[in-house]
Amino acid sequence: MARIRTIKPEFWTDEVMVQMPFEARLLFVGLWNFCDDYGYLAYEPERIRLQVLPSDDVNISELIDLLSAAGRVEVTSLKNGGRALHLPHFLEHQKISHPTESKIAPEVSGKVAIPLEVRRQVASKHGCKPGERADAACYYCGAPGSIWWVKTQKGRPSCWVAFGDLELDHFHSEKEGGEATENNIVLACRHCNRSKGTTHGFSFLLRKIPEDSGALRPEGNGKELKGKEDKHSAPAAPTLRTKNGKSLKGEHLERFEKFWTAFNYKRGKAEAADAWLSLSPDAAFAAQVIAAAAREAKGRAALVASGQTPKMAQGWLSARRFEDEDAPALPPAKNGNGTCPPVTDEKGLIAYGAKFGLNPKAGESWAQYRSRVVQASA
Ligand SMILES: [Zn+2]
Repeated sequence: MARIRTIKPEFWTDEVMVQMPFEARLLFVGLWNFCDDYGYLAYEPERIRLQVLPSDDVNISELIDLLSAAGRVEVTSLKNGGRALHLPHFLEHQKISHPTESKIAPEVSGKVAIPLEVRRQVASKHGCKPGERADAACYYCGAPGSIWWVKTQKGRPSCWVAFGDLELDHFHSEKEGGEATENNIVLACRHCNRSKGTTHGFSFLLRKIPEDSGALRPEGNGKELKGKEDKHSAPAAPTLRTKNGKSLKGEHLERFEKFWTAFNYKRGKAEAADAWLSLSPDAAFAAQVIAAAAREAKGRAALVASGQTPKMAQGWLSARRFEDEDAPALPPAKNGNGTCPPVTDEKGLIAYGAKFGLNPKAGESWAQYRSRVVQASA
């Protein structure tokens, strides 16, 4: 229901509003007439357009996103997966004598807010220059949208970037620890973002897309879909081609990508993918390897500082270096000539174990074998 609202004279000289394009200012005032007595209204861009700017050629979702970037409107998520708008300072400006209870407020489950800096990084990543506009597409289905790096009234690039018909989606969901950083934010249409929910981006793609429908590189900015994919056809399943011409996909690819991020030494990815494929770790094993990769990454600077060359992921994986830290250190072997050289690889350990009559058993993990050898030699 529309209501009569008041405008304070200060509105016209508000330091944020004066920098906004005319249509954003007018839309903002229009929202007051259609929100409830607590400043909430359903977020239906088409309806808002018909109510407030019915014969203007404007993109409401872009303008709302701009007002949201500027902190004048909050885009909130609802318990049913929908969205609503909230005007955060509404009650400071409106005197409402007998407010009607808000039907929307109790349904709100959270706020959708992405830092301005990240918005600008995402825009840059998609080729949008300061003060310009660029086309963009939903990462998951290729539906078109826009990026608008807003200019101030003086024609200079402002600090605000607005996205039209696309939402900023945490690829690895916030609830699962995904951060609002440039690398974890993809652009998604409302439909995909809503059906994805808190699913990991990879799982969502896999659920959406039939297997073996082609090759989509797992790392990218969403642009790779443009021009190659019809909006209505499903994009290709993510696969990674290994150096030996095999492909890594599904949960193995998902785990490998997590490893690759944790290892954080971005050389020889295709080679590393082969090493990963020959391990083909299950979820628990992969988690161990990923944790060790993160420790390896942490210690790399010190290693380089000490003049050593850091190991590339392939070598690190094939030498099973991820087991190094969990296993007790090997004591030097006693033999006629003093001590053996330190055992650092698989071959060396087997040779060392043989001195005690120990060979790796079928089904035994590397760490288990190692600790048997350690015990025998102690
Ligand atoms: Zn989509």
